[in-house]
Amino acid sequence: MPPSQRLFRLAILLLGFAALVGGTSLLAFRFSLAMGLAELQATGRHRLDLYATSLEREIDKYAYFPTTLGLEKDVLHLLTTPKPTPAQIEQLNLYLEQLNERAGTLSIYVLNVNGRVMATSNWRRPDSYLGEDLSFRPYFRQAMDTGSGRFFGIGTTRGEPGYYLTSALTNAQGTVGVAVLKVGLQQLEKTWSTVEAPALVADENGVVILASVPDWKFTTLKPLDDATRRAFDQTQQYNRRALNPLGVVELAELDHGARLVRLPKAGPEMVSMFPVAGKFLAQTQPLPGTPWTITVFSHQEQVREIAANRAALAGIGAAFLCILALMFNERRRHVRDRLAAREALQKAHDELERKVEERTADLSAANTRLQEEVAERTRAERTLRAAQDELVQAGKLAVLGQLSAGVAHELNQPLAALRTLSGNARKFLARGDQETAGSNLERIGELVDRMGRLTGQLKSFARKSTGKPQAVPIRRAVENALFLLEQRLQRAGVVACIDLPEEELLAWCDPNRLEQVLVNLAANSLDAMAGRPQQALDISARRQGERIEVKVRDQGPGLDEEARSHLFEPFFTTKEAGSGLGLGLAISAGIVADFGGNLTGDNHPDGGAVFTLDLPAAPAAPGALS
Ligand code: ADP
Repeated sequence: MPPSQRLFRLAILLLGFAALVGGTSLLAFRFSLAMGLAELQATGRHRLDLYATSLEREIDKYAYFPTTLGLEKDVLHLLTTPKPTPAQIEQLNLYLEQLNERAGTLSIYVLNVNGRVMATSNWRRPDSYLGEDLSFRPYFRQAMDTGSGRFFGIGTTRGEPGYYLTSALTNAQGTVGVAVLKVGLQQLEKTWSTVEAPALVADENGVVILASVPDWKFTTLKPLDDATRRAFDQTQQYNRRALNPLGVVELAELDHGARLVRLPKAGPEMVSMFPVAGKFLAQTQPLPGTPWTITVFSHQEQVREIAANRAALAGIGAAFLCILALMFNERRRHVRDRLAAREALQKAHDELERKVEERTADLSAANTRLQEEVAERTRAERTLRAAQDELVQAGKLAVLGQLSAGVAHELNQPLAALRTLSGNARKFLARGDQETAGSNLERIGELVDRMGRLTGQLKSFARKSTGKPQAVPIRRAVENALFLLEQRLQRAGVVACIDLPEEELLAWCDPNRLEQVLVNLAANSLDAMAGRPQQALDISARRQGERIEVKVRDQGPGLDEEARSHLFEPFFTTKEAGSGLGLGLAISAGIVADFGGNLTGDNHPDGGAVFTLDLPAAPAAPGALS
C-alpha cells in the first residue's frame, strides 16, 4: 500500500476512533444526566412535598384562630355595641394581647363591618392599628364577601410582612365584623430550618414572600407590569417595596412541571451549606389552602459532575474497546495474511507438482519416443547391416564371377592333365610299366589335391561370413588371396612380391572379409597393369604400434584426379561395361571401416597406385586362427 493511502487510512481510523469515543462519552453523559435529573426530580418532589406539608401544617395551626374569636361574647358584644366604652375596648385589647402573646403571632385584631379596628393586640404600641380604617385591605373584603380571607402583605404601619388570616364574625343577625390574625414570616420560616435545598414561596402575584435565602425575599419571579404595580400601590400590599426580579433564567422545560433554570449570582454563593447560584432543577407546586406556590431548587452540579465522570469512564471504556477491536483486527489480519501465505505456498506447491507431473509425463513420453526411435534405429541398423552383409556377399560373388574364368581354366588344365595321365597310366599298366604308371598315378593324386585345395579355397571364399572380428594372421590372408588370383597372375606374367616381417602379424578382423578386400585390391592392380610392359605387384605389411598397415602397390598408371576424388563412391568405375560395377572399393572401404580400420588410395612417388589398409592389431592374447 502506498504511504499516502496508509496515511489516509490512519487519519480515517483516528477520526473514527475519536468519533466513537466522543460519541460514547456524549451518550453516557446525556444518559447519566437524564438519570441524575430524574433522580434529582424525585428527590426534589419529595422535598417539595415535605416543605409544602410542613408549611401547610404551620398555617393550619393558625387557621381557626380568627374563627374562634367569633365565639367570644366580648368580641361580638363590642362589635354590636354602637358606642363601646373605653373599658370595654381595653378589656378586649388585653384579651387579644394575651392571645397574641400565647399564640406567638404578630398581631390579632378585630374590625367592625366598616373595616375600622375596634380592638387589637398591639393597642399599647404607639403605631397601634386601634381606630384605623383598614377597609382597603383585601383580606377585609375577602372575609366580608366570603366569610374568610387569606392575604400576604406588608403591614402599612410598621412595614412588617406577614400572613393575614381573616374570618367574618357573625351573630344571629349576620356579619358583625372581621377577626384578623397576622402571622409573622419568621414563624412560617421556622418550618424550613432543616431544608437541604433552596426553596421559596411565591404569592399569586409571583412575589417571593418566603425564601430559605434571605436575599430572595420580596423579589419577583416574573417581571411586573405597570398596572400591577399601581394596584400594589393602592392596596399597599407590599408597602412600596422595590420588588426587583430574582432573575431566574429558564433553560429548559422537563416533564412533570420541572424546569432547568439558572440562578444569578447576586449575593453569596452558598447559604446554609447549599449553593444558591448556578444551574438548578426547579420544581413548583401549589400550596393547598393558599393561592401560593412553593418552589424547590435542586442543584445540578453534582449530577453534572457524576455524568461527566461517567462520560469520562464510558470514553475510556470505548477507547479500551476500540484498542481491543484494533488488536483483534490486527490479529485477524495477521492470521488472514498467514493463511493467504500458506494458501499461496500450497498453490505454488500444487503448481510445482503439476509441472513436475507434466514434465514427468513429457519425459516419459519423450523416453517412450526415444525408445521407439532407438528400436527403430536398431531395426534400421539391423536392416542396414543385413543390406551391407548382402552387399558384401554380392561384391564377393562379383569377384568370384570375375575369377570364374581363371578358376575354370585352373580346373580345366588339371582335368586335361588327369585325362592324359590316367590314359597313359592305363597304357603303361597294359605294357606292364608299373613304375611309370605309379608315377602317373602319383601325379594324378597331386593334381586332385591341388583341385581340391582350389575348390576348398573358393568354397571358403564364397561362404557368407559372420563379420565377427578375430585375430587374423596377415600372411595367411595374403597367401589365400593370391592363391585365388594365381591363375590371373600367371596369365599376366606378374610375380607377386610379398614383404612381411618375420614376426607374425595378427590383425583384429574377419579373415574371410580381409581376403575379399585383398583380392579386390590385387585384382584392381592386375586390371590397372594389364597390357603394360612392366608389371609388378608388391604386398607389404608392417606393425605400427597398435595398428597394422598393409600396402598393395602396382606399376599401373596410378590414379588420376577424378579417380582420386571418387575412388570410394559406389558405382564409380573407369572400366568398360561388363568389366566393372564400381562397387569393389566402396565395399572394401565399408568392410575395413567395420573393423575400425581405414582404406586409402594414392599414387606412389615412383609411379603406380598404392592402396593402404590400416587395421587394428589383435589384442595381446589373441585366439589366433590356425
Ligand atoms: P571396378 O573395379 O569394378 O571398376 P572398383 O571400385 O574396384 O570398381 O574400382 C573403381 C575404379 O578405381 C576403377 O574403375 C579404376 O578406375 C580405379 N582403380 C582402382 N584400382 C586402381 C589401380 N590399382 N590403378 C588405377 N586405377 C585403379
